[in-house]
Amino acid sequence: MSLLPVAEAQARLLALAAPLEIETVPLIDGVGRWAAEDVVAIRDQPSHDLSAMDGYAIRHAERPGPWTIVGESAAGGGLDRPLGRGEAARIFTGAPVPAAADCVLVQEEAERIGERLAMVGEGPRGIGGNIRPQGIDFRSGSKLIPTGRRIDGRHVALAGIGGHATIAVRRRPRITLISTGDELVPLGKPTPGASLPASNAPMLAGLLAGWPVEVRDHGIVPDDLDRIADAFSNAAGEADIIVTTGGVSVGDHDFIRPALEKAGARLDFWRVAMRPGKPLLAGTLNSAIVLGLPGNPVSSYVTACLFLLPLIARMGGAAHPLPRTRTVPLGAPLPSNGQRQDYLRARLVDGQAFAPDGQDSAALMALAAADGLIVRPPHVPRAEIGESVEMLYLA
Ligand code: AMP
Ligand code: MG
Repeated sequence: MSLLPVAEAQARLLALAAPLEIETVPLIDGVGRWAAEDVVAIRDQPSHDLSAMDGYAIRHAERPGPWTIVGESAAGGGLDRPLGRGEAARIFTGAPVPAAADCVLVQEEAERIGERLAMVGEGPRGIGGNIRPQGIDFRSGSKLIPTGRRIDGRHVALAGIGGHATIAVRRRPRITLISTGDELVPLGKPTPGASLPASNAPMLAGLLAGWPVEVRDHGIVPDDLDRIADAFSNAAGEADIIVTTGGVSVGDHDFIRPALEKAGARLDFWRVAMRPGKPLLAGTLNSAIVLGLPGNPVSSYVTACLFLLPLIARMGGAAHPLPRTRTVPLGAPLPSNGQRQDYLRARLVDGQAFAPDGQDSAALMALAAADGLIVRPPHVPRAEIGESVEMLYLA
């Protein structure tokens, strides 16, 4: 089986999935998810012409006054009648401009004696001066948030001020994490002999914190065909995505593929032209999508960023599920590349990217220190200092 190019593997994985069911939730619960429908304003913003300043509502044509102050408009409550000739109203920021007024004289340019008002200084620059007109931000019926846009605090404000308290989003996918390996022990337990703490599942749970998912940790399963197959069957009943780590290479103790077969799964692809992460596997088991990540922690993390996160975004109805890269200049040269797409753990120093030599797929120190991953496509020539490369930001 030849290695699948990364972009092709991503496309195949995303094609296995479809957006999950729509649910309507309070706006704040939509944060981190993607709008499942266009959000359309059901009110104008602002709903009236509002004063942008503290001062006096007047008619521009009547400058420089004097005027008689006949009342007050404060935020939330306006004057109950239109201004007549020669009349002004005290007004505050955010308050509705009285009917028949057409500009606001700012407080600093006004002189008030009792109910008499005079202008000092330039005055408002014209009709509409110091007024935020009704609907200047948006009108009722405007599309505020397009389908597929990821919701953050800004969108909560926008939809909220547009008249909504809830938003339509996709159900959160349920993800079951399965760690495989005879050598693994739970975090914090003694690690006799060559055993080691099973850090992959907590690492992935950490990566997914802040993502709209429900994560369940199935725990550690030994390198045993039947037990891994059982774990798959159990998980398939409840999970939308089953993520395994380890056991996906070509060693004698790598049982993910045979176990999937035994559980009745359909393999979609295995082995991707990338480094780290070559042994990555994807398939389906009933309605669940199976993602088999390599065991090396760095490989696991990088493939999760490039495949698991986009899969979640796809199920969440994202318009653009693939991660975005940014262009950065190199601070040190990089050698030419072979047939696999490299994801080099790199640091940014003064805006320049540095990828240290010796990119070991088990080296967590370099991963934890990295600002991002430099993407090196297959067969690119040597790159010199100052040349632009694509970088996937990790934090
Ligand atoms: P494997 O893909 O099963 O051959 O594992 C590759 C390497 O990753 C081995 O050195 C494993 O000990 C290590 N590894 C596998 N699973 C985990 C895990 N859950 N946490 C930390 N290291 C792991
Ligand atoms: Mg293993």
